[in-house]
Amino acid sequence: MPKTVTLGTGLAIGGDGFVVMAGPCAVETRELLLGAAQAVAAAGAVVLRGGAFKPRTSPDSFQGLGAAGLELLTEASRLTGLPVVTEVMDPRDVPLVAAHAAMLQVGSRNMQNFPLLREVGRQRRPVLLKRGAAATLDELLLAAEYIRREGNEDIVLCERGVRSFDPTTRYLLDLAAVPALRRRTDLPIVVDPSHGTGDAALVPPMAKAALAAGADGLLIEVHMAPEQALCDGKQALRPAAFSALMADLRRLAPAVGRHWVRADARTGTIAAPRSGAAARDHLDDGVIAP
Ligand code: PEP
Ligand code: MN
Repeated sequence: MPKTVTLGTGLAIGGDGFVVMAGPCAVETRELLLGAAQAVAAAGAVVLRGGAFKPRTSPDSFQGLGAAGLELLTEASRLTGLPVVTEVMDPRDVPLVAAHAAMLQVGSRNMQNFPLLREVGRQRRPVLLKRGAAATLDELLLAAEYIRREGNEDIVLCERGVRSFDPTTRYLLDLAAVPALRRRTDLPIVVDPSHGTGDAALVPPMAKAALAAGADGLLIEVHMAPEQALCDGKQALRPAAFSALMADLRRLAPAVGRHWVRADARTGTIAAPRSGAAARDHLDDGVIAP
């Protein structure tokens, strides 16, 4: 029986449900974050993503808003009712990030940061563990084991693409990893087609392929104005494209034995939708995915 990982809000990841986590790559401004949060909530995402601490290849690139970004994520979470997943890079920041997030993300660059893995293993929030860009599946599973050994079994694995010889896509999204991991672990597995392709036009087809490959969910970057994004604009979907993708995924899910998880599918407190768009979306959910 596959394990389900339940966020503090009562939202379950895994089992036969399919969850979509979405939001900007980075928290940039209050206006952009709240806009994206409302857009993804209205389209049916059930977790809000967004980085406050950003692992950037160049030290000259935008590094994220840090603690101020976490405050904005908390505000966006209150506004939309969506729980937040956000990255923690430094073991010393784990308590701070855990105070603002329902799930802690360990990014691909830190998949083998063993002190960080141990630290997120010692606290109680679920962990989204991303595969390193050059990590084997064995190494990913062993990284998860570092977290589990410290007492935290609530781990969601994320395939986000590996390095390849071909620069056509930013990374090579390894969708065979999904069924291959499924044979070896009962942990939920999600796919990130945004980093996996680096190209907004390729995100919808790969998102649908991930659902068909047996993923338990998706992590997708959405930005109000991708051309102005401080981070990963090329791979960010606009709200309209995200919404269209969500409609396709919702239709596909039952065909591959998945039920569509709605934002109010929680065992805990049920947050009422705050906008007309969100309310309409909930009605649609009822019609399309009973
Ligand atoms: C992210 O999801 O914000 C991110 C930085 O991705 P990755 O760690 O997979 O590069
Ligand atoms: Mn990104």
